Amino acid sequence: MSHAVDPCAKPGLIHPNDALPKLLEQVTPLSRTERLPINNALDHVLAEDITSSINLPPFDNSAMDGYAFRFNELSTQSAETNFTLVGTAFAGHPFDDDIPSGGCIRIMTGAQVPASLDTVQMQELTEANDNVISITAPKRTGVNVRKQGEEASIGQVILTKGTKIGAAELGVLATLGVAEVTVYSKVKVAFFSTGDELQPVGTELKAGQIYDSNRYSIQGLLTKSQVEWIDLGIIEDNPESIKQAFIEASSQADLVLTSGGVSVGDADYVKQVLNEVGEITFWRLAMKPGKPFAMGKLGDAIFCGLPGNPVASMVTFYQLVQPIINKMKNLPHSDPLKVNAKLTHAIKRKPGRVEFQRGILTRNHNGELEVSTTGAQGSGMLTSMSVANCFIHIAIDQGEINAGETVIVEPFSGALS
Ligand code: AMP
Ligand code: MG
Repeated sequence: MSHAVDPCAKPGLIHPNDALPKLLEQVTPLSRTERLPINNALDHVLAEDITSSINLPPFDNSAMDGYAFRFNELSTQSAETNFTLVGTAFAGHPFDDDIPSGGCIRIMTGAQVPASLDTVQMQELTEANDNVISITAPKRTGVNVRKQGEEASIGQVILTKGTKIGAAELGVLATLGVAEVTVYSKVKVAFFSTGDELQPVGTELKAGQIYDSNRYSIQGLLTKSQVEWIDLGIIEDNPESIKQAFIEASSQADLVLTSGGVSVGDADYVKQVLNEVGEITFWRLAMKPGKPFAMGKLGDAIFCGLPGNPVASMVTFYQLVQPIINKMKNLPHSDPLKVNAKLTHAIKRKPGRVEFQRGILTRNHNGELEVSTTGAQGSGMLTSMSVANCFIHIAIDQGEINAGETVIVEPFSGALS
């Protein structure tokens, strides 16, 4: 469904659902790769398919500590059958001798099941009297045996190009005996804040000044997004300084990210400078918070300009920049998980913009998901992001919402978790 001409949107504003594919169109996934030992590959994205050179498991092995025997030698007359113990197989130490008919071996979890045996009974369902082992019949042949190749076989693609390497993937690679992988190099992101009012932490504030918080929240978001970042500090509201910062940033990074200066104020020079040194599309998004957003090209780098209001900059990062970074990283696009929850109190609002209210999602005593807002929702009130664990998504055409109504909630994940 297209929202571009949504009658509910205020004139000139574009629905974020329509903006995102247009923004992503401008992004080419990065092609730089490197070869890494798997110990260093966590959080990288695979640039190759990983094919198994072995079967998984590599041999038939026991899933239990117990006794291995031939299923067809179980008595059909009684529930238990006596077998003669002829040896023991440990994990890493197979039992290689012949096993006569009516014979069984003691076997430990992970030990190879001899080719001439097919079934394992767990120790708890057996009774040992010297060399005579009474085994309770299991339901079918093959019980408690993990068959060679049952999880994957030689030649099978186990992990595909574009897979993010997490803890499980590291283990899977090791299971396959893979020592090194080809991964995409990390995306480099340079970022700076703009604003004459901004001061770094560790200094005294003078009249009219505030501390620069966006550089810290953005640094956190970028670290969690697993990119390499370069902090270029605070740049004053002056076209020449901004121009120099852009030139420096684009020479070092794949993505240049700024906050502030993309609105319509008299000191908002980001757009003007970008028009001189690169290309820019300026977006007025039908979203709250986060109306102004700029995207463009600075040489080979992508540029994203976030609004200065601290909540707006975090929300636009999460909703728009994170998918852009994911595409640059060669990850497939995936929409964040959304769930339904019951609103605990009314929300007053007017239709016209998609809203991302900060919410607190809990389970009530009936086990149902419930959500409340964090209170005042000013786009400068960053504590609302800190208290929240989710966004409450409010559709563009939605007016006031009553207590008890079901709303759509997006639990914080990825860079916000
Ligand atoms: P701007 O987008 O530059 O018009 O800024 C909008 C609002 O966000 C203003 O109140 C700014 O003071 C504030 N702001 C801009 N950048 C930052 C920042 N890096 N940290 C905290 N507040 C900021
Ligand atoms: Mg500003």
